[in-house]
Amino acid sequence: MKKASWLMRAFGLLALCLWLLPAMALAAPTRRVVSFQSQVVTEGRQKFLRIEIGMSGPIKDYEVKGDGILHPNRLTIDLDRAEKGDVRGEIPLDRQFGKTLRFMETGKKLRITVGMQVPATEQNYRVYTLEKERRKPHRLIIELYGEGGRRGHVAGLKGRTIVVDPGHGGTDTGAVGVGGLREKDITLEVSEKVRDILENSGVKVVMTREDDRDVYGPTATDAQELQARVDYGNFTPNVDVFLSIHCNAFTSESSNGTSTYYYPKTWLDALLAQNLQDGMVEHGDRRDRGIHEARFYVCRHSSMPAALVELAFITNYVEGNLLADEDFQNEMAQGIAEGLANYFAASGT
Ligand SMILES: [Zn+2]
Repeated sequence: MKKASWLMRAFGLLALCLWLLPAMALAAPTRRVVSFQSQVVTEGRQKFLRIEIGMSGPIKDYEVKGDGILHPNRLTIDLDRAEKGDVRGEIPLDRQFGKTLRFMETGKKLRITVGMQVPATEQNYRVYTLEKERRKPHRLIIELYGEGGRRGHVAGLKGRTIVVDPGHGGTDTGAVGVGGLREKDITLEVSEKVRDILENSGVKVVMTREDDRDVYGPTATDAQELQARVDYGNFTPNVDVFLSIHCNAFTSESSNGTSTYYYPKTWLDALLAQNLQDGMVEHGDRRDRGIHEARFYVCRHSSMPAALVELAFITNYVEGNLLADEDFQNEMAQGIAEGLANYFAASGT
């Protein structure tokens, strides 16, 4: 008897919940604009306008549209279940990056339109949200960039997954060049710069190592060590490209230039190599040694298109110094990222 009444109460509660559920969904809270702020910011070598729109609740659903045909310089952001609050409908911006920002309520949506000084293409703006913290409300952040767009951002890479493999590491120093420069250090530094650009461009990056270590272990055989790197690609879903970064070395100090290696598993491998090579030569401005077929383990055993780049010669005096130079590393990283974007465009994949 006691048991039955417990059961009935449970059923009653369930029925009440089911009845309330649709009503609750309809009454989901509407968020209001509670603050507005905009200022020109300098971060590193980049100057841009940052607009912060404070909201009374978390910002989950929003849609960003740019690149319109009719109004190419107009960026539109639609927020679901939001209203303008007491903020002005039209706000003039700094003039250097932005013209005017407008709030408009349409049904349950709040539409924000921003007039930019340059076309509202992917590399010229950034929209993201920040959670409530201490004295700051939930915020929608809009960043507007000028001519030349966001640094360290490459269009056409969004949504890709790429494995970046910094050659050597740990007990394996790789080649040692001018002034005792170690290949394993250069490959990691350049790989980190590649990772940053790719992540900025909307890529999911998987690094085979992020510090100075053996990927498999210090006592591994060469095959075990290389297979451990390949596994990052083969066991991560939907990897588009496996990219291994190295420096070249030779007994003659005069050898110099940039080259890229691939194993022709499919026609895509050579296409990838050529685009990486072109990007590096364009940005690094070293001698073009071309692309070459090779039986490198990581290229052969990766189940996706793969390439191994040799940035420059660590054993050459000029190139050794360049490889250790931050600006040259940035240029090579940019060249690699652009090469990847060109490869995706050319492959149609
Ligand atoms: Zn190497």
